[in-house]
Amino acid sequence: MLSARFKPWHVPLFLAKYAWLSMRKRPLLVHFEVTLRCNARCGFCDYWKTPAEAREHELASYADAARHFNPMLVTFTGGEPLMRRDLEDIVAAVDAAVRLKYVTLITHGGMLTPERAASLWQAGIHQFNISLDYLDGRHDSARGIPGLTEKIFNAVDGMRARGIDNIRFNTVIKDDNLDQLLPLVERAASLGCGVNFSVYTDAKNGNRDHVLAAPLHAALDDVIARLLDLKRRHRGVITNSDAYLEQIPRWVRGETMEPCRSGQRTIHIDPTGHVKRCPDFPTDFHWRDHRAYAPIDCNACFYACRGEAQAPLRLSRVRDVMGRPHAIA
Ligand code: SF4
Ligand code: SF4
Repeated sequence: MLSARFKPWHVPLFLAKYAWLSMRKRPLLVHFEVTLRCNARCGFCDYWKTPAEAREHELASYADAARHFNPMLVTFTGGEPLMRRDLEDIVAAVDAAVRLKYVTLITHGGMLTPERAASLWQAGIHQFNISLDYLDGRHDSARGIPGLTEKIFNAVDGMRARGIDNIRFNTVIKDDNLDQLLPLVERAASLGCGVNFSVYTDAKNGNRDHVLAAPLHAALDDVIARLLDLKRRHRGVITNSDAYLEQIPRWVRGETMEPCRSGQRTIHIDPTGHVKRCPDFPTDFHWRDHRAYAPIDCNACFYACRGEAQAPLRLSRVRDVMGRPHAIA
């Protein structure tokens, strides 16, 4: 299993909840954007420009929304969620509100100490996803946080020493990190961590600097084939579905024509409690007034909330969940 906190007998329970939510056309995954504030300085995202005063409108608790949707997957995200000093209280309240769930925290890692991680683990986080796009100093400059890469690896060492066994790196595939992807997987595996990939889009703020243009498509095909080969031999290290990785080259080439189903299986709830179909769309209604989303004709990204949501549930997905990160010989 991905974490020792979950046992094989949890798998049929989650499958039953998956079927129950799907039959009722309810979201499987709810992202709680607990703040849009962020202390990074990424060139491809404008969340860090959110004024400090925005905190006055951030919800103190997401427990009622969690109880209402009763999802099987919960993600705390931002902005940078660790900007919330009360994050442990928020997590613990959601933990108490939903019985069967898998809870993830997404962070840039710049404020993640082993102590803070341990207290969030105690509050109910089951999986830490730390953004990491390069193994070298380019990550620090891309995120605008000096020393970030070293901080992340120090935090991971301390977290592993405290028994936190479910850490993943969130890696965005870009124009200039194709050479980093396999080394990043190997490094993660050597630390007992996993890697979750997504692919760069300019949808956040129109920055096309890292778009995978046509001259890179052959190299992308090659690296995706290698990642899939590695993934099939070492289940549990790369945590995307096979189907998602297989579709990335199609999306990059503009060949994915099917409507986007974001908002159907996954929703985002912003810091004020309003729902949007995906991170980059405006909000539509308060969570109390939630109505099911219809598919939309948009091809602006291939985020997991799009690509994983439309990936078929194959047996390989169950084998992924049963796997564990392990060193790759
Ligand atoms: S991409 Fe993440 S780390 Fe960077 S500014 Fe946006 S919210 Fe912050
Ligand atoms: S493709 Fe879907 S997830 Fe991506 S920006 Fe468009 S609506 Fe949002």
